[in-house]
Amino acid sequence: MDQKNFSASIALRNVQVTDTFWKKELELVRKEVIPYQWDALNDRIEGAEKSYCMRNFKLAGEVNRKRRALGTSYQEVTYPTNQWVTFPDPEKELEERFYGWYFQDSDFAKWIEAVAYSLTQYPDKALEELADSAIDQVVEAQLENGYLNTHYGINDPKNAFTNLRDAHELYCFGHLVEGALAYYEATGKTKLLNAVERYADYIGTVFGLEEDKKKGYPGHEIVEMALCKLYEVTKKQQYLDLATFFVEERGKRPYYFDLEHPEEKPAKEGELKFFYNQAHAPVREQKDATGHAVRAVYLYSGMADLARLTQDESLFAACETLWNDITQKKMYLTGGIGSTHLGEAFTFPFDLPNDTAYAETCASIGLVFFARRMLEMNPDSKYADVMELALYNGILSGMAQDGKSFFYVNPLEVDVEACKKDERKHHVKHQRQKWFGCACCPPNIARMISSVAAYAFTENATTLWFHLYMGANLTKVVKTQDKTTSLHIQVESQFPWSGEVLIKVRPEEPVEATMAFRIPAWCKHFPIPEELKAIATIQKGYLYLTKVWEKEEEIKLDFPMETQYLRAHTGVKEDLGRLAIKRGPVVYCAEEIDNSTDLKAYFINPKKEIIRKTVNLQGEELVMLEVACKKMKADEQQEALYQEVTGTSFDELMEEATLKLVPYYFWGNRGEGNMTVWLGMR
Ligand SMILES: [Zn+2]
Repeated sequence: MDQKNFSASIALRNVQVTDTFWKKELELVRKEVIPYQWDALNDRIEGAEKSYCMRNFKLAGEVNRKRRALGTSYQEVTYPTNQWVTFPDPEKELEERFYGWYFQDSDFAKWIEAVAYSLTQYPDKALEELADSAIDQVVEAQLENGYLNTHYGINDPKNAFTNLRDAHELYCFGHLVEGALAYYEATGKTKLLNAVERYADYIGTVFGLEEDKKKGYPGHEIVEMALCKLYEVTKKQQYLDLATFFVEERGKRPYYFDLEHPEEKPAKEGELKFFYNQAHAPVREQKDATGHAVRAVYLYSGMADLARLTQDESLFAACETLWNDITQKKMYLTGGIGSTHLGEAFTFPFDLPNDTAYAETCASIGLVFFARRMLEMNPDSKYADVMELALYNGILSGMAQDGKSFFYVNPLEVDVEACKKDERKHHVKHQRQKWFGCACCPPNIARMISSVAAYAFTENATTLWFHLYMGANLTKVVKTQDKTTSLHIQVESQFPWSGEVLIKVRPEEPVEATMAFRIPAWCKHFPIPEELKAIATIQKGYLYLTKVWEKEEEIKLDFPMETQYLRAHTGVKEDLGRLAIKRGPVVYCAEEIDNSTDLKAYFINPKKEIIRKTVNLQGEELVMLEVACKKMKADEQQEALYQEVTGTSFDELMEEATLKLVPYYFWGNRGEGNMTVWLGMR
């Protein structure tokens, strides 16, 4: 680890995204997703399973007011706290108990985080007032001791932190911390931040190495990275210590979740239940990415934060091993991770089925979290390549073009009939869904997209790294030994359709600083501009320019974007004999609507030239691809199920055809139909 290469993401208030491609997505989040999400949190969406999220906060506040008013004479009314989900009896009036899924508080936290990021790009007084009033309601739910979770807060506070494995209290807390920090950074307001600090301080009295404290850790990670962020903003050592505690406890024996659940049979070593929560071994001994994919990458992100903040080489090495395991053996071409819906989990190396994939949107988002944290320690383009891949493909596919419906699962092959009639594929939806009762992905996409600039640029005192290319205006504050000044930077880019990037730099006063530009892995021949050759160096996939920036100047970079045929490692049995097509960062797929139902009948030849066409599909400008290919002649219904082919040439079975492809992220926006990324090769 070389500390001089450490960096942090640029503050969103110092960047304005002007990019054609991303601005459209940011606008969707602002105009569609955030208001829709608010309606969902308030149970105002017709036909969707009710969330009860804000209703729970309001009720918790009311219960608290009664507790305060009556003091010791208040009689607690308790309800069970061991139910994953509680819905009211439709025949009866609502009771004064928690309703919904037990992690429902996190929906508010993700909403406020997306709101905060959006406010940095689009100041909006009405939205900020709404957010302030929501925060007032949330803070009212906080108990005197600082505890803030409506599930236990309403139903039975005595049971708090008795089921870390399943009840997601620390998960909700982690999200609340992230939301509070984002809102503080966007608005300077501290009400929610103060509340989460009080909650964090309370958690510090419950968990720790001291004898009278619990030695637990959460079943669903996120608290690790949230506490690291809380430490970085507040500089309070106790939050870093608590993050360290949660990371270091995981995987120890005796197994905490056995101690917590004496009513169940203890787990045996090697059993899957250890792997599901990444608790099979202490974190430094974990060599394979295992278990629930979202939880795994959230943990690894927290480990990476901690490795950087404590300069822990062994923890960094563990992160690197896990990163390589995922990206070299367990990641779909689209940046999706998690091959099975059973446990929403990783399976084993090279097991990447296309039609039963899980590839949850949240897992790809978590992979992007992990990637940026690795970049913050080690600026190596391999992390940013994956970040870019996941963003333009497996994450964006999670949201419809109109921002109103969402995929939870992102398969690489869909047969509509199979999704409807084959139970093994029931988790795969062929059309995006309105909202989910267990709504993790939509609000996660909202917070990811609205903060996308924080993944594009990271900085330290004198260096600015360009990891992703997007149009933006940003201010880089340069701090040298003798001065602090600013570089005003304007980026113009047509990514992901063209690899040309123009960067205009205007220094407030002459200052020495470094700009580092990622050379994408898909760009095979990057020409270093003639005028930069004298000062340019290349390290780990970045072009570094160090110089005194004296006057306004322009840097023109061109990353030629060729269309590429790709094959998978032969270990991926599902993709043997198949090809996929990618252009720049964008993976392509074939859809029924542009071709025909039988997409598996198309065979492509990697020698064929691919034709590019800029089209407007439903108001969106994008690049479509077209390639001449062979298509297996279809049998009539009445023909025999099996037929002899002795002496028959391959070509006799085929006819000439043309295959049309659209960006993978765009699939499923034009009605119901089959889709595939991988195509037969001949
Ligand atoms: Zn999700």
